[in-house]
Amino acid sequence: MRPIIGLDLDGVTADFSTEWRTRLGVGDAGLGQWDFLNVTPFKRWVEFWDWAREEHIFGDCPPYPGAVEGVKALSKLGTVWYLTLRPHWAKAETQEWLEAHDIVFPVVYDVAKWLARADLYIEDGPFVLEDLVTHSRGAKIIRVVRPWNEPVQECVDARDWTEIVVAAERLLKEK
Ligand SMILES: [Mg+2]
Repeated sequence: MRPIIGLDLDGVTADFSTEWRTRLGVGDAGLGQWDFLNVTPFKRWVEFWDWAREEHIFGDCPPYPGAVEGVKALSKLGTVWYLTLRPHWAKAETQEWLEAHDIVFPVVYDVAKWLARADLYIEDGPFVLEDLVTHSRGAKIIRVVRPWNEPVQECVDARDWTEIVVAAERLLKEK
């Protein structure tokens, strides 16, 4: 059976962070924080998300360097599912974005990612990584190293898309 690869979008494939930071002109302020609301002009998350929706950030953000080629390489190693916590209103712009970059694979929204029962997860979110370690028994996990996360003992680190693909290949062979 082809392995299932649960691939995160924001912070792994799509550079959401750079896009909103550029538009708000906040530079790298608070880049090491997962919870970044205090570096934005917004008081509440709902205001940030309303703004992001109006600005079409999910539709316009750039892929990380090597991500497009990397996702295509992953799709040769297994079945790619994007697992994302993006809000539901972002579905249309997410689909457009995937089509524009020619990396269309199924997108699963708003799920506790371990429920996808993927064989391999590629993720940057600190809380998601913890959750995966706790619940996804036997799955391999790649932590994509970003300023807002920390090493997790059970995860294999990858700093960029070259390392992601190399690690994925190795981990899937071990399965
Ligand atoms: Mg992420």
